[in-house]
Amino acid sequence: MLPAVHRAILGGTFDPPHLAHLVAGEAAYRQLGVDVVSFMPAGSPWQKEGRAVTAARHRLVMTRLATGGVPYFETDAREVTRDGPTYTFDTLATFPEDERITLVLGADAAAGIRSWYRADDVLARCRIAVAPRPGTDRGAVEEAVGERLDWLDVPGLEISGTALRRRVAEGFSIRFLVPESVYRYVMTYRLYREER
Ligand code: ATP
Ligand code: MG
Repeated sequence: MLPAVHRAILGGTFDPPHLAHLVAGEAAYRQLGVDVVSFMPAGSPWQKEGRAVTAARHRLVMTRLATGGVPYFETDAREVTRDGPTYTFDTLATFPEDERITLVLGADAAAGIRSWYRADDVLARCRIAVAPRPGTDRGAVEEAVGERLDWLDVPGLEISGTALRRRVAEGFSIRFLVPESVYRYVMTYRLYREER
């Protein structure tokens, strides 16, 4: 029998994907020994209602551009092709039961995991690997995640989608904070010009 696949899933809005996402994925691959890191753009992010999220097709293409050329990275479109809000619990049910799954989260997302739909079931199914993020306290993450936690060793990177969108809207460059291909895509399609 083939050994079970160990997959890391790095979900996000990826609006846009940036270097901190890739650094977290790289750490998951190197430090957890996963076989593959699946970057999974969210369809209609249920915790982001209230601000207009960029069309899924743009976020999907940008995620493909960001992960392209790295043999152990892939972009998984299953959430963007599903209608309605995307719950991690439902997404997990679409993977074979014998796959080992580790969710890779930034500390801010991990600290909020108890608010997720069926959080206990999610925690029973996966391990949770967390990249420290400036501004989020480790204790809050440890309390929320409990036993199933692995810390990733990554440098603290103060990069966020929110700040990148704001920079573009204000006329500042985001070059070198995102992969070159993503930078070119954002410029070509004039994304984020109107962000408030
Ligand atoms: P936004 O500001 O729009 O929320 P974001 O930078 O937080 O964008 P997301 O797509 O929301 O990006 O994040 C996807 C995942 O990556 C989340 O688990 C988030 O915590 C993590 N992440 C994003 N940026 C960082 C960072 N600088 N350091 C560590 N983790 C990060
Ligand atoms: Mg975020």
